[in-house]
Amino acid sequence: MSFTSIMEQKHRLPKKKRGDCQKPNEDYLRAMPKGDLHRHLGGSMSFERFDHEVRRQGLESEIVRIAGENGFQMDAYDKDKLHTIICDPGQFETLGPYLTRFKLTERVLMDRQALRETSEEIARSAVENEGVRYLELRFSPTNYICDGLWSKKIIEAVVEGLCSAEDPFKHEKMEPDWRGYKRHVVKYGFRTGLIISGMKCSMVDPETIADPIERQKIKQAQFNLRETVDIATVAKKYYQEHHFPIGFDLCGAEDFPLKAFKHYLYKIDDAKMQRTIHAGESANHAAISAAIYDLSANRIGHGTKLYFHQSLLDYIVANSIALEVCLSSNAHTNTTTRRSVTPAGMYLDAGAKVVPCTDNTTMDNTDLIQEYMHFANIFELNRYQCKLLAWNSLWGGFLHIKDKLPFISDCIDMMDQM
Ligand SMILES: [Zn+2]
Repeated sequence: MSFTSIMEQKHRLPKKKRGDCQKPNEDYLRAMPKGDLHRHLGGSMSFERFDHEVRRQGLESEIVRIAGENGFQMDAYDKDKLHTIICDPGQFETLGPYLTRFKLTERVLMDRQALRETSEEIARSAVENEGVRYLELRFSPTNYICDGLWSKKIIEAVVEGLCSAEDPFKHEKMEPDWRGYKRHVVKYGFRTGLIISGMKCSMVDPETIADPIERQKIKQAQFNLRETVDIATVAKKYYQEHHFPIGFDLCGAEDFPLKAFKHYLYKIDDAKMQRTIHAGESANHAAISAAIYDLSANRIGHGTKLYFHQSLLDYIVANSIALEVCLSSNAHTNTTTRRSVTPAGMYLDAGAKVVPCTDNTTMDNTDLIQEYMHFANIFELNRYQCKLLAWNSLWGGFLHIKDKLPFISDCIDMMDQM
């Protein structure tokens, strides 16, 4: 690919067409090629799959025990009650209790077959039901380690699931290269990426904690984070050709100052991995500032508190740092009280690279079409403005640039046909 064609493609926007000023509907948004850059495996596993896996693995009593430990009492395995716990997002006051549900889904995913089939199902559903052309799925492998399932097998299972979801949308084609020579190229109608998530945890020296149970908990959490960084960097080397994993993420409750994680991420720096950080989901703008300046975040997950800090928002706009905005999730954790009072409109006005994302399709009872509909309704966006959000989502992905350019070019061609 020549320099000029790369520059042309990098700056090519979808064409404006007659009818683009109309309001989009669900069918239009489904047909529009777009990416979801923020979707968690544990929070997007369908309830039917959860129930199927509990029964297949004989985990009924264990699920009852885990539910009880997390404040959801039940006498025996109760499918209806579990459906409400997992799928009703309106029952939580804050982020902490909202996240406890992951303990349930993560337990049933401590199984190679469950991991592979669930990843494939999430990706398939995204492309077939929501018209997602690029999906970055994220999860924290140390939460899935159990007897007989160790980190390499966990990553392998998820990668296999994602690759099988891509396969039906892949074909070979003869295309001229920049010198005009025809050669075989693989065309992807759907691409996936894997992001490894490390869980935020207390960074205090465990030896200074008097309570032995608390001390052990902190030790274990710090060990898990170190282990996750190792897994991510080793996996990156192992799957170099396929770009799995394509990025690193820090997630979990925002109870700890992000700056403290800096020295934990040096291997991520060495491996030149791109990173996205959950920041400003419940904490204030200082967390977003730390994510960008201390942890060199390429993207910010949520970022709801930026409106307090104009100069930080200016920096984010100037440096094209994508903001993964999850309207439904933020409303459910009461971060933004209601979808309609989200600061995302201010980010759009400032020219930020706003990317609508789902966070957890099952636990937030949403999908990417619903998230685009919320954007269109709240901010009165027309079809072309939705195309620009989709354009942001494709460019914001961590896919390697040599794969990204032809892939996005095909997606923009599809937008031009709409
Ligand atoms: Zn998230």
